[in-house]
Amino acid sequence: MRAMVLLRIVDMKECAAPLELRELPDPQPNENEVRIRVAVCGVCHTELDEIEGRTPPPNLPIVLGHELVGYVDRIGRRVTKLREGDRVGVGWIHSSSGGRDENVSPRFRATGRDVNGGYAEYITVGEQYAYPIPNVFSDVEAAPLLCAGAVGYRALKLTGLKNGEPLGLTGFGGSAHIVLQLVRHQFPDSQVYVFARDAAVREFALQLGAVWAGDTEDRAPQQLHAIIDTTPAWKPVVKAMENLRPGGRLVINAIRKEDVDREWLLKLSYHDHLWMEREIKTVANVTHFDIAEFLPLAAAIPIRPQVTAYRLEDANEALLALKRGAVRGAKVLRI
Ligand SMILES: [Zn+2]
Repeated sequence: MRAMVLLRIVDMKECAAPLELRELPDPQPNENEVRIRVAVCGVCHTELDEIEGRTPPPNLPIVLGHELVGYVDRIGRRVTKLREGDRVGVGWIHSSSGGRDENVSPRFRATGRDVNGGYAEYITVGEQYAYPIPNVFSDVEAAPLLCAGAVGYRALKLTGLKNGEPLGLTGFGGSAHIVLQLVRHQFPDSQVYVFARDAAVREFALQLGAVWAGDTEDRAPQQLHAIIDTTPAWKPVVKAMENLRPGGRLVINAIRKEDVDREWLLKLSYHDHLWMEREIKTVANVTHFDIAEFLPLAAAIPIRPQVTAYRLEDANEALLALKRGAVRGAKVLRI
């Protein structure tokens, strides 16, 4: 099969093409697995963290990619629910303990980091970790729901937001633009405030229904009950704490933060940013429950991800565009 493969950890400032197109043996499913012929795979910021070594794959070479949609083309003999031809998706969780806390289990294995992922023609996965894709979505639309959407759904749950309470989103890319649509459905009386560096991205947020959009350094016109941070940096975290009301919660939805501006953490003031029961929480991975709950909800709304498609062999170009930021919506590869 054709696959875009990561051979070594590199700094993308020095190496603009970290992935190489390779021919690999077709994977075969074990008795509990299905094999999926991949149709599309989303491009996620976590791939940059893998390539640059912030969450390095334990073994190289590896096929990246953890937001894939495709068609079951072979099934193991103990597979009971899925059949050949079924359209399914796979997210960041490739396998784990199966329990409600499997996202933080030591048995957690990530698709496209610990095992080969979706920047390839085929992938194998246990049937519990492959999810039927609702018919309302095209392949391309469904891909970003599997990571950006499902992790965003988990982040929103962790905010503890109630209908009517104002929410902030700092960073407005693949995940946040889905969360905004989810909030408008689940919490119709909650106002959403968006913080983003890029003016075009702020305009996009307003079009999707944000009541206000400012820079990541700005003060919102009111204090917020909760904020979800999807930026790769630290300054927006400190600035977000200034926008939280007493008792408010910041949820950081990122697997790794980049170190470029970590000195900003020294500006975190106990009195100004944390006192009055403000708290910071993180999101770790997803469970299969999160993805299985989120997909039908996304179909009922229905969430419409904004997607730009690239060819598999142009994966490096998509990754570079993501690295530069100012991304409107999500990016996917057509395999
Ligand atoms: Zn992801």
